[in-house]
Amino acid sequence: MSSSLLGRIRRSTAFRLTAIYALLYIVSSLLLFVIAYVLLAGVVRSQDQKLLTEKLNEYSYIERTKGLPALLDFIRRDTEEYEESEYFVRILDPSGGERLTVSPPGWETLPQAKLEPRSLEAAQWQLLEQPGPGGGVFEVTSRKLGSGTFLIVGGDAHQREALLSEFKRIFLFITATVILLGVVVGAIQADRSLAPIRDLIATVNSIGGGSMTARVPTRGTGDELDELASLFNSMLERISTLIQGMRDALDNVAHDLRTPLTRAKAVVETALQSNLSQQGLREALMDIAEENERIRTTLNTLMDISEAETGTMRLSIERVDMAVLVEEGVEIYDYLAQEQGIILICDAAPGLFALADAGRVRQLLANLLDNALKYSKPGGQVQVSARMDDGRVRVTVHDQGEGIPPEDIPRIFERLYRGDKSRSHRGLGLGLALVKAVLTAHGGDITVSSTVGQGSEFVFSLPRA
Ligand code: ADP
Repeated sequence: MSSSLLGRIRRSTAFRLTAIYALLYIVSSLLLFVIAYVLLAGVVRSQDQKLLTEKLNEYSYIERTKGLPALLDFIRRDTEEYEESEYFVRILDPSGGERLTVSPPGWETLPQAKLEPRSLEAAQWQLLEQPGPGGGVFEVTSRKLGSGTFLIVGGDAHQREALLSEFKRIFLFITATVILLGVVVGAIQADRSLAPIRDLIATVNSIGGGSMTARVPTRGTGDELDELASLFNSMLERISTLIQGMRDALDNVAHDLRTPLTRAKAVVETALQSNLSQQGLREALMDIAEENERIRTTLNTLMDISEAETGTMRLSIERVDMAVLVEEGVEIYDYLAQEQGIILICDAAPGLFALADAGRVRQLLANLLDNALKYSKPGGQVQVSARMDDGRVRVTVHDQGEGIPPEDIPRIFERLYRGDKSRSHRGLGLGLALVKAVLTAHGGDITVSSTVGQGSEFVFSLPRA
């Protein structure tokens, strides 16, 4: 494994998490083991020490009350039945010389207890190991008697200590296995739980490499990391829409500006080459101004559509009475309708409150009315009505004009799309695209139904206030 890989593993969050938890786990497992061992050893030892304590107390009492010779006598008699006894007794002079030693048969080599006279006023415990044949592990208790002699009572602790050390070995083995298992499982778990973060990093990297289509895989677990992945994906979706919107707008601008710019260029070139009169020059300038205005309107509308589609259009949403807005629109277009010989009817009872940007609603109403009049024949009728329906305010613009061919219907809301027959009419092919984008930005929608030769009906809705 290369050192850079090792370094990366050491820096990784999975490694750190595993290391911290493994350390906590090891410390608590060991602590548990030590506590269990100490408690168990304490219980087993106290059982063994009970008999030795009893003997030590009994012999001390006899020495205190009856004197040392009586004690020696008593011990000899007491230990006569050593077939069954499980302890040895030893009495030493103040100088360390042996006064008496009695032990069960087979206990040849007895351990030498370390005696410190000053600290021997109370009983002392020692666990002594006596190597060699006949030796073993002895639990020894000793005490200084009144006569200055030392009383030592000891029992065989070999079996008990062997059991405890076996227990220690098994316990250590189990603890080591549990720790190893804990560390391995912990490492796998930490690695698995951090997989979403790695996916996120991989996605960010591929986006950094220019691929806007990359998305973080979601696992459907519903946890925080899954939520983060979903949020990140929706953020990417939004950014993609914005970028796509900008690209489309740019494409459309490039496409749509070329025609008026070429026309303006042609007018300028013709004017420069020919010897035009004052009037001719004036007309050329007017043509150029007209193309200029067309470019300006196209640009503004395209920008508006782009902003509305990408959700960056600033809307001052307020409670607006749609009936009032519809009446206003009808009033504005009434003169044009009369000029074209078209009857314009308004049917909207006041009090139809919607949540909308009044300026934008006026604009979309104007686009729909403009189309309705533009594609109507003299003598026709255009009716605008508004009503409350299913929690929304619905506005219908109905005309008896030329209608829209069924194959055009899915495309009329696209940017710059114009029906074949519409080319004889003025227009940019942006009106309906703007209407739809603005409505979408409001949380509204628009539908159309039309029959060629009979007329069209556009119905849009806005959220009720
Ligand atoms: P335009 O500037 O061409 O009117 P729009 O986006 O407003 O652009 O409309 C797109 C196309 O939809 C029009 O070219 C026309 O073919 C069709 N259209 C829109 N409104 C009507 C209508 N009321 N009657 C018939 N055709 C319509």
